Formats: sequence, structure tokens, C-alpha cells
Amino acid sequence: TAKRSKDRKIMLFEPAMHKVVERRVALEAALRQAVSRGEFRLHYQPILDVETDRVFAYEALLRWQRPDGIMSARHFIDLAEETGLTNEIGLWVVRTACRWLKTVQAKGQGPQTKVSLNVSAAQIMTIHLPEQIARICREEGLAPEHCIIEVTEQSAMVDPERAALVLQELKRLGFSLALDDFGTGYSSLSWLHKYPFDVLKIDRSLTAEVGQPGGSSKMAAGILHLSQLLGLHVVAEGIERQEQMDALHQLGFRLMQGYHIGRPQPDWPMAVTFPRAEGQTSPA
Ligand code: C2E
Ligand code: MG
Ligand code: MG
Ligand code: MG
Repeated sequence: TAKRSKDRKIMLFEPAMHKVVERRVALEAALRQAVSRGEFRLHYQPILDVETDRVFAYEALLRWQRPDGIMSARHFIDLAEETGLTNEIGLWVVRTACRWLKTVQAKGQGPQTKVSLNVSAAQIMTIHLPEQIARICREEGLAPEHCIIEVTEQSAMVDPERAALVLQELKRLGFSLALDDFGTGYSSLSWLHKYPFDVLKIDRSLTAEVGQPGGSSKMAAGILHLSQLLGLHVVAEGIERQEQMDALHQLGFRLMQGYHIGRPQPDWPMAVTFPRAEGQTSPA
């Protein structure tokens, strides 16, 4: 085909390009085996309710443990989508996170705590996704009420009508829905009432300046007020400093997530006080 001959031409004349292709093929092969080899890990980051000092939910963040280090999902999710691996990886994430939350609840961190899962563009287009996630939750003995599904507008935009069907079905089955990374390139307010979201996560690009001298909090405050009118929970992402946390609290934010509150880590001990001081590690 035209594309293939074009690739070949590039490879012939651009040795650097050849290297890129080679590296990609190797990465793809490794990714195919990563699930069966047990190379994936989940790290969990708390979303704190600053009014009650309780963890509202833990967001599960996917990591790939490779021989040369740990890779964040950000660097391989696109490749996983292109190679048709997202469903397999995604279902592994659901099962692992459900199991983990059960142990956390059993350790006494409160039966109300939830787990929040990210789904990719390919997953949100999968008509069977809701029933697959529901089945796993059932098998693991976790009620859907304890599970939040995070989706970005960018992912849902690929096919908004199909995404709407999947989101409505997830909602009908009892899952909570979160719109992630709100405030980045594609966000539009119409999404908030067109889809049955329960939680809005405001991207760190909109919270970064808050609490800084001369920093603007107008966007964050405006989105908060609109969300409250719509009856949504609002999470401020990217909390890195105490002043930022205080200023957001002052504006009326309750739910916060960020390095200052707690970095993503494989496990959380029974009793933790937040925010975790910088560099502090968990007692064993
Ligand atoms: P996200 O869902 O918006 O997750 C938040 C990202 O921000 C995480 O990066 C987290 O480590 C990082 N973060 C948290 N607090 C702070 C902070 O205070 N400052 C800064 N600068 N960053 C902070 P991570 O773990 O590298 O994940 C990147 C993205 O990869 C996620 O963005 C999500 O879109 C995607 N992802 C992660 N896990 C999964 C998964 O299981 N499935 C899918 N499809 N995507 C995933
Ligand atoms: Mg997320
Ligand atoms: Mg986010
Ligand atoms: Mg983000």
C-alpha cells in the first residue's frame, strides 16, 4: 500500500527513522507479554476531603515495571490502543484495583472509600465495557457504588454518541462517573449536563496559580460554582503546596488530589494523616 511504501522510503533514506521504528516494534512486543509476565503495577493516590480529613477515593494509576525502570501509563497507553491491548490491560486494572480496595476497606480505612479508575478512548467505545467491569466487581465482591470511572473529554470525543451509551450504561449499573482533566484543550461546559457525570476533576493547569502572589483563581472558582449548581463533586488536581491547598479550600473546594497530599504509591497504611509532609515515607 501507499503507506507501506512510504514507510519503506523513509527507512531507506533516514537511518534515524529506522531506529525509531525498531524501538517501537520492540516496545510493542514487550507490551504484548507484559500482562502475562505480571509486569504491571498499580499505584494509588488519595483524593482527600479536606472538610472531614477522610479519603474520598484512591485513584489507581498504572505503571509498567520494566527491567530498566518504571514507566507511567502516559507513555504506553497510546501504543496499547494501537495494538488492541487496552481491553486486556484495562480489565487487569479493574480486577487489581477492586481487590486492593477490598483489602483497604478490611484494614479499616472506612467502608465509604472508593477507587477511581481511568479508562482509555478505546475502552469507552467498547459497548461491552460496562458489563465487563460489573462482572469483575461482582466476582471481587465490590459494590459498583465504590467504583468511579474516569474519562477524558478527548477520549469520549472520538465517538460521542457511542461514548454516551457506554457512560449511561455504567451509570445505570451503579458506577460513578468522573470527567477527568477538565480545563485542558478540549473541555466544553456542554459536556457537563449532556452526560451523567458525578465528579468533575479540574486539571492542574487551572489550579497551579491559585494561592500564588498575583495568581488568578477566577477559572477555578467559576468552574466550582457551576459544578455546584449542577450537583457535581469537584476535585482540584495537582495540589503541590500548602498555600495552594488553603486558597482552594477558601474558595470552597473540598476534594483535593496532588503530590502535597500524597504521591501515588503501591499501598497506604491503615492510619495516615494528610497532607503527607514532603519526602515523608509511610511507616512500614
Ligand atoms: P490522570 O488520570 O490525569 O492522572 C493524574 C496524573 O497526574 C498522574 O500521572 C499523577 O501521578 C499526576 N499527579 C498527581 N498529583 C500531581 C501533582 O501534584 N503534580 C503533578 N505535576 N502531577 C501530579 P501518571 O500516573 O503519570 O498518569 C498519567 C496519565 O496516564 C493519567 O492522567 C491517565 O490519563 C493515564 N493513566 C494512568 N493510569 C491509567 C490506566 O489504568 N488506564 C488508562 N487508560 N490510563 C491511565
Ligand atoms: Mg485520572
Ligand atoms: Mg486527571
Ligand atoms: Mg491530569
